[in-house]
Amino acid sequence: TPRPHWLFGDQLGPHYLRAGDGGPDQHAPLIMIEARSVFRRRRFHRAKAHLVLSAMRHRAAELGGRIRYVQAETYREGLREAAGSSEVTVFQPTSHAALALVSSMPQVTLLGQRGFLVHPEEFGDWARNRGRSGLLMEDFYRRVRCHHDILMDGGQPAGGRWNLDKDNREPPPRQADRLDVPSPYRPREDDIDAEVRHDLDRWVREGKAEFVGRDGPRRFPATRREALAALRRFTERRLPTFGAHEDAMLAADPVLSHSLLSAALNLGLLHPAECVEQAEAAWRAGEAPLNSVEGFVRQVAGWREYMWHLYWHFGADYRRSNVLGHREPLPEWFRELDADVVTARCLATVLAQVRDTGWTHHIPRLMVLGSYALQRGWDPAAVTDWFHRCFVDGYDWVMLTNVVGMSQYADGGRITTKPYTSGGAYINRMSDLCGPCAYRPGDRTGERACPYTSGYWRFIHRHRNRLARNPRTAQAVRQLSCLSDLRELLEHPRDAGPS
Ligand code: FAD
Repeated sequence: TPRPHWLFGDQLGPHYLRAGDGGPDQHAPLIMIEARSVFRRRRFHRAKAHLVLSAMRHRAAELGGRIRYVQAETYREGLREAAGSSEVTVFQPTSHAALALVSSMPQVTLLGQRGFLVHPEEFGDWARNRGRSGLLMEDFYRRVRCHHDILMDGGQPAGGRWNLDKDNREPPPRQADRLDVPSPYRPREDDIDAEVRHDLDRWVREGKAEFVGRDGPRRFPATRREALAALRRFTERRLPTFGAHEDAMLAADPVLSHSLLSAALNLGLLHPAECVEQAEAAWRAGEAPLNSVEGFVRQVAGWREYMWHLYWHFGADYRRSNVLGHREPLPEWFRELDADVVTARCLATVLAQVRDTGWTHHIPRLMVLGSYALQRGWDPAAVTDWFHRCFVDGYDWVMLTNVVGMSQYADGGRITTKPYTSGGAYINRMSDLCGPCAYRPGDRTGERACPYTSGYWRFIHRHRNRLARNPRTAQAVRQLSCLSDLRELLEHPRDAGPS
């Protein structure tokens, strides 16, 4: 009989069972392990715990007699129970820790990577030949487009331009509190969802796990069928409006035209190739404009692949990067997602979205949550842990580069050319969040000083030596000397929550 094959909980789609190309035997018995220690180590958002367990149990139910589904305290115990000391195979897991674990188990044979467009060797070739220009995402992305023939016409980018970002930075429509677009796909819960919820309640009662955030009807796909329905609904109904307002924020419409596909992609329920293909097909059929389709392809075939490969390229020590020397702990209200005590309307709104759903789109993550943490000098490792626990799509591989690198600039600029942070003016331009706020985005000091505006200048001041050396931030450092209220600004910090 063939060796059993072990599936991790983020390897749930059919492409993880495809034989050939270094895959498991087509008749291999399967193993999945639900390790409870995962929930003891970290306090996850309840919606995330619910989604992951629901997806794993749904997959086990689909695979029926072919799979041995073991609930154990640890992965080691689970594997012993499922396979004894027999040899098993596994695809490369998605975190340094899980890779180290399976590598330390003599009975486990590691297969290659699955679930991404770009092969590790292809990334390696690209990275090796970068030289002084560095590992620029735009350069990587163009190569992926060419190599994988995505949105290409002959050797040229479809429509003649590689990058349509300029068309995709529109503020939200002024007179509306939501985008006029069909609602996103919503799954319907079943008995497996109810059973998972029952288990979570029991674990909490028995003191075996603690969670943050609110539970509610599941919003994200847990099965392949649901994931395909979500993808279809997005490409058919919502993709046309994805581009223009990609960076906009609306208090009453947190999703706008975003795809909500990250959780399904990261669970392995969807393959990025099918997402990109469907988006391209919509453009070729004249059903979606190029700026929307290119914007979406850039996210999935560009950013997502880039972050995955950089996670491995930078190595396990990357998580300890902290070039800005930020060491402040996260305040309790932030850790507890206590949005009700937050006075700045943008942060209160976004924190409530996280509390209620475990999701916000990219700009609130970067320019509201991450920017606030960066300005206040919070410990980047603690910020990373927070994002990992509180977001339904948070996994180590995608968190580290996005939080340590992109959002907290703790790597000193290996991913971005400057720290992502701004004063309230940016939030005001890109959202309807400032209007009724207690603070004024333009005020640096005084009663109504905006915590983001005051925090921005304090951040620039604190790191002025480093930022003066960077051409993209030198101008902001020069402006410091023109601020007549600099002393007051530095003496009276303005925070958005209780200190
Ligand atoms: P859309 O806007 O519809 O984009 C389409 C897809 O592109 C996403 O589903 C996602 O798979 C991919 N994508 C876009 N940007 C990125 C990126 N920077 N990195 C990886 N994939 C990307 N994404 C996660 O999947 N998990 C995370 O834990 C995560 N944490 C983040 C933390 C911070 C501080 C920041 C700034 C970004 C983070 N992102 C993360 C990236 C991005 O914000 C989310 O992928 C996106 O908001 C998910 O919503 P969506 O599916 O509607 O995305």
